[in-house]
Amino acid sequence: MLSADFGNLDRDVELVNASKAGWFHLDIMDGVFVPNISYGMPLTKAIARLARKPMDAHLMIVEPHKYVTRFAELGVDYLSVHYEACKSNLHETLALIRNSGMKAGIAINPETSEEFIAQYLDEADYVLVMSVHPGFSGQKFIDGSVEKVARVKALIDREKANCFIEIDGGVGIGNIAALEAAGASVFVAGSAAFSGDAMANIAALAEAE
Ligand code: ZN
Repeated sequence: MLSADFGNLDRDVELVNASKAGWFHLDIMDGVFVPNISYGMPLTKAIARLARKPMDAHLMIVEPHKYVTRFAELGVDYLSVHYEACKSNLHETLALIRNSGMKAGIAINPETSEEFIAQYLDEADYVLVMSVHPGFSGQKFIDGSVEKVARVKALIDREKANCFIEIDGGVGIGNIAALEAAGASVFVAGSAAFSGDAMANIAALAEAE
């Protein structure tokens, strides 16, 4: 939703409702963990009121554990927190997400090795692989991200964990099939969905999976 027009929020939420997109993906940025501020609780609430599909919130913020229950109260279904933002309390944060009734995701930045999250996989429902540097929309897909998805998939299999892989950043028609072949099953599309004819773009992305 970072690529939506917030001046026409009702229209853009309805568009996603009517499209082939499966979920709403909300990028929450605090200006500290990432160099930008996007939006927070009021906009999440406004989207929740209109959304008829699951809401997937991606917290690019420091100390995300402080906000977990509030996102649950707003109706978020999937909540991911960054490994890099949690440091020593990732175990507790994942448990809190699940205990709040949501699916728990671990997000990792492009430069973070997947090996760091091995010990947390059995406490998570998904891994969000960033294929751009978080903080800005409209960035170019980082080379090597398909291979990273494949390594995350191998890690999940090695650890016998029950996690799916979400890929976020620069996803489009040109790489979605390769990402799926590598093991991703949830594809976040911002710019690729909302530039031009969004309904046609989303249909084409769904077709390309
Ligand atoms: Zn995201």
